[in-house]
Amino acid sequence: MATRNEILDGLGLWPVWRRRADFWAPSSSTAQIVEVSVPATLRSERIAALSWQAFAADVDACVACELCRSRNKSVPGVGDVHAQWLFVGEAPGAEEDAKGEPFVGQAGRLLDNMLAALNLARGRNVYIANVLKCRPPSNRTPTPLEAEACRPYLDRQIALVAPKVIVALGKSAATTLLNIDASIASLRGRVHRYCGVPLVVTYHPAYLLRNLPDKAKAWEDLLFARRTLSAQG
Ligand code: URA
Repeated sequence: MATRNEILDGLGLWPVWRRRADFWAPSSSTAQIVEVSVPATLRSERIAALSWQAFAADVDACVACELCRSRNKSVPGVGDVHAQWLFVGEAPGAEEDAKGEPFVGQAGRLLDNMLAALNLARGRNVYIANVLKCRPPSNRTPTPLEAEACRPYLDRQIALVAPKVIVALGKSAATTLLNIDASIASLRGRVHRYCGVPLVVTYHPAYLLRNLPDKAKAWEDLLFARRTLSAQG
């Protein structure tokens, strides 16, 4: 008679999930990426079918990379689920990690001002997300593995929101989404594509706080993004 594992294998469901408590104890220090036991394609397919109702809870239960161990709150995203504009940052910082909402710190206040200048607001024709849904320790740059593990969530958000334009905020978001190593300067002023959606690159608000003269360039980028959106009718 076939064993349980052989049956699961036959159904393409093996290796299977293990409960987090079982996984971490007693040798949690050796635990690395928990969902490696689930084939990546199965995980991506499951995430690609999530509804909005299930989305945030799924992100919150995610243990696909090490960041689940140090996060306080996951930060799925915020805003108008039917928005034409999708802004994508790098990853939550300390304040976002404490609150569970993206861009709530000083950089977030600048982003809100930039949105207001476009007659937009978070929640009004705007959705805001990050490449990573959990905070990297000490706000370090996301690793390629972390970005890859989190990518199905961003892709699902894009499919659900169906934005007309994506604005990548900063080098890390832009290069991760476009899968190239390039400077912001070389990526600005052009229409790229991600998941078939026009994507425009601009500076990260945190960078702009330290480099005030570049705010004018960021404003040009946002106007360019608005023209890109309008051109789609
Ligand atoms: N920086 C980001 O990229 N995202 C946030 O949510 C906050 C700061």
